[in-house]
Amino acid sequence: MTELASPPVEKAQDVKRISHWIGGRVVEGESGRSGPVYNPALGRQTGAVDFASAEEIDLAVQAAKAAFPAWRATSLSKKSAILFEVRELVHDHREDIARILTAEHGKVLSDALGEVARGLEVIEYCCGIPELLKGGYSEQASTGVDVYSIRQPLGVVGGITPFNFPAMVPMWMWAPAIACGNTFILKPSEKDPSASNYVAELLKEAGVPDGVFNVVHGDKVAVDAVLEHPDIVAVSFVGSTPIAKYVYETATRNHKRCQALGGAKNHMIVLPDADIDMAADAAVSAGYGSAGERCMAVSMVVAVGHAADELVDAIKERIPNVKVGDGMDPASEMGPLITGEHRDKVAAYVENAPAEGATVVVDGRNGGAPDEGFFLAPSLLDDVKPGTKAYDDEIFGPVLAITRVETYDDAVRLVNENPYGNGTAIFTRDGGVARQFQFDVQVGMVGVNVPIPVPVAYYSFGGWKNSLFGDLHVYGPEGIDFYTRGKVVTSRWPDPATSKVDLGFPQTR
Ligand code: NAD
Repeated sequence: MTELASPPVEKAQDVKRISHWIGGRVVEGESGRSGPVYNPALGRQTGAVDFASAEEIDLAVQAAKAAFPAWRATSLSKKSAILFEVRELVHDHREDIARILTAEHGKVLSDALGEVARGLEVIEYCCGIPELLKGGYSEQASTGVDVYSIRQPLGVVGGITPFNFPAMVPMWMWAPAIACGNTFILKPSEKDPSASNYVAELLKEAGVPDGVFNVVHGDKVAVDAVLEHPDIVAVSFVGSTPIAKYVYETATRNHKRCQALGGAKNHMIVLPDADIDMAADAAVSAGYGSAGERCMAVSMVVAVGHAADELVDAIKERIPNVKVGDGMDPASEMGPLITGEHRDKVAAYVENAPAEGATVVVDGRNGGAPDEGFFLAPSLLDDVKPGTKAYDDEIFGPVLAITRVETYDDAVRLVNENPYGNGTAIFTRDGGVARQFQFDVQVGMVGVNVPIPVPVAYYSFGGWKNSLFGDLHVYGPEGIDFYTRGKVVTSRWPDPATSKVDLGFPQTR
């Protein structure tokens, strides 16, 4: 095995340069623009990532375009064998990847390993690409005529990803895209870019041909160049709602297929008959895990009827036990936020909560987290009402908010009237109510006593309303559909017995 780039090591005041990966090798950026990369637990800059110009995006597109014909023609069994090798290498190097994630994102190592494990499941699903691309066949659709369907790759496709899952979300995209025979250009988040380069080296080592997988770093300039490039035929995006909408509108205006997943405001409904300890454990885990920087994080807990007081007490009791610290420390359960600026933005929601009529039950600004770095300890707000900023905004930090309602119908109305529709959960012992909830709720991913219902790799991931622009969800069967086009062949072989001139419209009977 060739030598892989080692994960970043914390050396005093090292600032490493992070460059693009094009055509199977590192390509240093020449735009003269770059962005800082931090270790959020230390609060200091550890890297500088090159920002691509439109010309550098074009370089990657040319590499991907050149690689496409041979990759497309590679047999399914060979592609599958390469994907199995990718799976092995990602699995073998999962701890290195996790350490890179923790160093740049801040999430604790166990969480980073969980992220890689969920990404691996998508790669494993894609190892079955020969089965996934099987079409249909109808013999004797008409006399002597057979009809069959096939799915073919699109060409050069792009993926633009957010900071909060720097390894898993790219895997949601590149694994099915290249398994289907496309070549891929990844524009990862500029906040934690190193994992993508590390994975690129693993793909090369696994036998993915040069140019099939490329990484270009950057900001809006790079994104716009991807969205406008005539040779990129489809774009997958995951990020915040305003950018998702912009990406969808720009990509489709440029005649590209696009799936753009946006932000979220996930409600967890707790009915009076719920197991309150189970619900409190779930709310704390799903609200504060990864410092609340998950698109499937629970941010609103809707307490129905008399569940509220007991639930608030149970959550409050658990918060002091959450160990906040450097993600590299195995004792830590919650790490820092991604930047100092974001930490301050999240803290402002707690600051403003009383003026909005809410109660601050636990204030994360009052200690409980290391002083250096971008830390904020968990906060709990009660009586948070729709129409306030703490309710309406996606806070994306360790702030759990409770809202109180009288009935199940009130709770469902809140979820359905919310502009987002990514995830939701109901906590109850009543199977009938849970079934009714699954029927009623206007949200793409639903949990029944499960707070973070991220679908397994053989289903597809995606929200409704402002959480998804486009039609197809990511990975699973819809991911395969997104990265392929259907073709139907109607065929007849020469047979003198049935051959005649007939100018009528073809009929089958
Ligand atoms: P973001 O929208 O700021 O950035 C996402 C990507 O878009 C990055 O690659 C970034 O470089 C690029 N970008 C940022 N501003 C841009 C602009 N003005 N023009 C063009 N491109 C731009 O999101 P983020 O802060 O990195 O990630 C957090 C957000 O992502 C949250 O809203 C979260 O809910 C969402 N998210 C959603 C899902 C999902 O599956 N629905 C999953 C993970 C994260």
